[in-house]
Amino acid sequence: MKRVLITGAAGFLGSHLCDRFIREGNHVIGMDNLITGDLKNIEHLFPLENFEFYHHDVSKFIHVPGHLDYILHFASPASPIDYLKIPIQTLKVGSLGIHNCLGLAMVKKARVLIASTSEVYGDPTVHPQTEAYWGNVNPVGPRGVYDEAKRFQEAMTMAYHTFHGLETRIVRIFNTYGPRMRLNDGRVLPAFIGQALRGEDLTVFGDGSQTRSFCYVDDLVDGIYRLLHSDYSGPVNIGNPDEISIGDFAEEIIKLTGTTQKVIYKDLPVDDPKQRQPDITMAKTLLGWEPKVHRSEGLKVTYDYFRSLSTDELNKVEHKNFEKYNRSLMPAV
Ligand code: UDP
Repeated sequence: MKRVLITGAAGFLGSHLCDRFIREGNHVIGMDNLITGDLKNIEHLFPLENFEFYHHDVSKFIHVPGHLDYILHFASPASPIDYLKIPIQTLKVGSLGIHNCLGLAMVKKARVLIASTSEVYGDPTVHPQTEAYWGNVNPVGPRGVYDEAKRFQEAMTMAYHTFHGLETRIVRIFNTYGPRMRLNDGRVLPAFIGQALRGEDLTVFGDGSQTRSFCYVDDLVDGIYRLLHSDYSGPVNIGNPDEISIGDFAEEIIKLTGTTQKVIYKDLPVDDPKQRQPDITMAKTLLGWEPKVHRSEGLKVTYDYFRSLSTDELNKVEHKNFEKYNRSLMPAV
């Protein structure tokens, strides 16, 4: 039985990874400081003997007794609204946090997989984005704290690989959705579904022509699982190339939920990428991976999840104040 440490275990992706690694017969040690994570995402694992949880901030020294085979570093805020609310923690978890994980991996002789992101490509000038593209990132803009932390994280991980010979894997994750997304993190899918469920208008930022490509969480987790078990140490895009404009996406959500509300238009946040679509040739070739879940199918499951939340949870929406974060706090640099 392999022993796997998953940081950010109580988050959206972390919790789904815990499920997968448990299902595959591993011993999983989850770690989270619960700033953006939520224990309810993993409470079903607590009765299991092959699951342990440490309430710990990975930006501080990490001690885990016993041996470890794999470390998956998934701790990080991951939505533009979170970067604005907790910019320093975002920078720390991507820098100090990964340093601690890599140090721990050296001691344990463990393989490390880090969660990187399509944000390393910034507002891309190359479309679709291949791993060979270096990106177009504004280091001092509102997204800089996340983008640069993730870019630093990749650099640090490669340095441990080349200098120390540590076994490392880097996944560049594109927009992903599914059950357990936080309703109030300001990301577009929970924002739209939450608005539909509360009977509010759907807020499209800008004119809605910017594009994203949404991957269902089970597909993403499968890609990550395969990458971990591969022998490739360079960055690999995992995402669904099925690209859609945010305006069309709002229409899809209106249809899915049957809401009678309309779309309203708000200011586009600073540095909001205009288009994003992964080139997944590398994942196909190296891992034999490609996404299987069509958006219509994945959205249905996700909608059912949000519908099952209590009215209290539905109404706990910090993103109603999103405008507070939208422009005034963002220097246009
Ligand atoms: N977006 C929107 N309305 C919202 C929330 C987000 O139109 O209520 C837009 C946002 O400006 C961006 C896209 O949806 O262009 C995806 O935003 P998200 O925060 O989900 O992810 P990211 O920008 O990091 O891809």
